[in-house]
Amino acid sequence: MLKVRNLSTGYDGVPVIFDVSFEVREGEMVSIVGSNGAGKTTILKTISGLLKPFSGEIEFLDKRIDRMPAHEIVKLGIAHVPEGRHVFGKMTVRDNLLLGAYTLESDTDIKKVLEEVYEIFPRLKERENQKAETLSGGEQQMLAIARGLMSRPKLLLVDEMSLGLMPILVDKVLDILKEISRRGMTILLVEQKVQEALEMADRGYVLQTGRIVAEGTGKELLESDLVKKAYMGM
Ligand code: ATP
Repeated sequence: MLKVRNLSTGYDGVPVIFDVSFEVREGEMVSIVGSNGAGKTTILKTISGLLKPFSGEIEFLDKRIDRMPAHEIVKLGIAHVPEGRHVFGKMTVRDNLLLGAYTLESDTDIKKVLEEVYEIFPRLKERENQKAETLSGGEQQMLAIARGLMSRPKLLLVDEMSLGLMPILVDKVLDILKEISRRGMTILLVEQKVQEALEMADRGYVLQTGRIVAEGTGKELLESDLVKKAYMGM
């Protein structure tokens, strides 16, 4: 579904990602794991069109997207749930969700997808008229994911959703992602929480200072010496 080939990118001509290649197949949950500053967010921003590659190719459903503007990439079916939640605090939960549906044209479709999203996130339904800033951190993260789903994406990009959450909430948010994946969504997740992200992934990639240094099934990576030594203190 998504193929990234020999991607190099960065900021103001300074490279941060070097010759990175990976793929996400339909229905998979794939995790890219790595420490702070490894370049995980930069990869997602490049896929969703917020950053342009220096070189390399990105293909989504057999179409080149690396030169497309971000709004066209959303229309093709990629939704990006950014790091740090970014919900609109002064707006209600419901209005935040409706913003996510801006690519849908008919009111019937919007109503339908809102109902589907409320089915996955009953807590958001209970709080639909509440301002987003009054939600707890975990609920705001749920809202960010839910808003991503409102565009009916084929591929969901999720950036560091564990950031700033208490461990118990991290587990809750991960459970939600597993549920969304079980319902058939294709998910590319980037995470610093290496163990959690690899345990739930079908496949994973390890990113170190802008380069992919290992790949495999979640289980293979968890059992690899590299991951054990570098990320699990063994
Ligand atoms: P984190 O988990 O801390 O978000 P990350 O793996 O997502 O880390 P990135 O945010 O992709 O890492 O950052 C990779 C590198 O790019 C870092 O060295 C960072 O300082 C640099 N960088 C990120 N954003 C910018 C920017 N807007 N301008 C210049 N450099 C940037």
